[in-house]
Amino acid sequence: MTRRFSYAALGLLAVVAGLLIFGEWSLHRRSEEVCGFCARHIHRQAGVIAEIDGKRHHVCCAHCAVTEGLQEHKPVKLIEVTDYNSGRKLDPARAWYVDGSRIVACTHDMTRMNEMKQVENTMFDRCSPGTFAFASHDDAGAFAAKNGGAVRSLGEMLAGVNAGEAKQ
Ligand SMILES: [Zn+2]
Repeated sequence: MTRRFSYAALGLLAVVAGLLIFGEWSLHRRSEEVCGFCARHIHRQAGVIAEIDGKRHHVCCAHCAVTEGLQEHKPVKLIEVTDYNSGRKLDPARAWYVDGSRIVACTHDMTRMNEMKQVENTMFDRCSPGTFAFASHDDAGAFAAKNGGAVRSLGEMLAGVNAGEAKQ
């Protein structure tokens, strides 16, 4: 009786352990994709596919891609962006962007909350402030009204990094 009970307990333990391992594995799998430039996990609301110097990269957010373009003196082309509200993929040319808000999606490991619960940025961060994409101008405006930042079109958002290119 006790032996059978311990077998049952062992079996149960194995099942629980299996579930834990599987849970860990699937969690890991979901956040497997990392940014091609800063190696941070790509936030499912902010990921973009960017083409810089003819090469495609999965990037954590548009701002990280723009930083790369500025550092490399290469124009940046966005191939696909993610709607911050729904996580759906968007055509970059039809999306609206909020630049310079207080939200930092891909820098959670590098920012600190101070006692006033304000996020402190003590060092240069290639992804900060984050740039997020929205399906409509209204969505972008609502986000900016709540979190700060400026609403920009794709052209406006990339104007700085692609300025040299436009002049040629
Ligand atoms: Zn990045």
